Amino acid sequence: MKYDFQPACDLLADKQKVMIVGHISPDGDTLGSALGLARGLRKLGKQVNVVFQDAVPRHLSFLPGAAEILRPDQLPEASYMPPDLVILVDCATLERTGNGWINDYLPQIPLLIFDHHALRDDIPAVSLVDPHLAATAELIYWFLQSLGVSWDLDLARCLYTGICTDTGGFRFTNTRVHTLQIAAELLAQGINMEEMRINLFESRSLGHLKMLGLALLNMQKTDDNKLVWCSMDAVTKEKYHALPEDIDGIAGETMQLEGVKIGLFFDERVEQGTVKVSMRGRDGYNVGKLAAEFGGGGHYAASGCTISGNLAEVMPKVLAAAEVLLKETEAKLS
Ligand code: 5GP
Ligand code: MN
Repeated sequence: MKYDFQPACDLLADKQKVMIVGHISPDGDTLGSALGLARGLRKLGKQVNVVFQDAVPRHLSFLPGAAEILRPDQLPEASYMPPDLVILVDCATLERTGNGWINDYLPQIPLLIFDHHALRDDIPAVSLVDPHLAATAELIYWFLQSLGVSWDLDLARCLYTGICTDTGGFRFTNTRVHTLQIAAELLAQGINMEEMRINLFESRSLGHLKMLGLALLNMQKTDDNKLVWCSMDAVTKEKYHALPEDIDGIAGETMQLEGVKIGLFFDERVEQGTVKVSMRGRDGYNVGKLAAEFGGGGHYAASGCTISGNLAEVMPKVLAAAEVLLKETEAKLS
């Protein structure tokens, strides 16, 4: 482990009230990292609040501590407020924490960041950021280890969830030797693999499966299969009373087509007048760059952005940019 946690430990040392914050549309890594870190810091006697603007998706509500997560509007009445340290986990920008509520606390309160995103804001903070890591939860594992925190099953379940979800169940190329070593250490705490797999990958709602089916029905592709896209329009979501979590996870399915290099999923959000675009890439086709062109971000293999307009307006623009990325990458690789 090559990280210098000393500045983070020094920052933490004289702080008592800690607020841990993750990103909007929370996933297994931001939730697992936040809840694992909270549990670890409480073992050291810290008073910790975990704050997420958006609700915990149903399939992650099993996470130990998920029920105690606060929403920003609950903070005025919450214990341990105001915090004397804010910790951001898995957030490349302050915008990722939500609609600006964090500005009540930053930059006036010291900030510590744990993350694994490359494209990011330059925020004044003590930062532990490594874009080569599969998951923020890996960093949290090492940080808690450096603090001498004792492991337990619930702590292991939190961090394992972060690593397992961000590696797609240890299938993505971000899975390294140390990733599996950490996972093995966490498993040794007594994790039930069957429970984990079912919670993380096989607990979707009927609503999700129906939305997935409808999105797959409108899937399109270039003749060579390299670019694949599908969408979910606002009228269909309304008709099926789709929840945000029903739409979550559809993007990944675009990568199931044989020969695909770039997969796009367009989610029309009529209340905000925007379309959320989720992007997936492989084999050197860097969708992190594609998302950045539209003001978003993420990793080279998984990224996203939110663009003003409806599907008819947004899709042609993004598809044109994706075609350019295809050609540029092909030229580079040949
Ligand atoms: P998803 O497609 O699942 O929404 O997001 C995949 C990844 O892209 C996320 O883990 C996150 O890193 C990144 N991402 C998605 N949307 C945005 C966005 O609007 N801004 C930034 N900076 N990153 C995003
Ligand atoms: Mn992550």
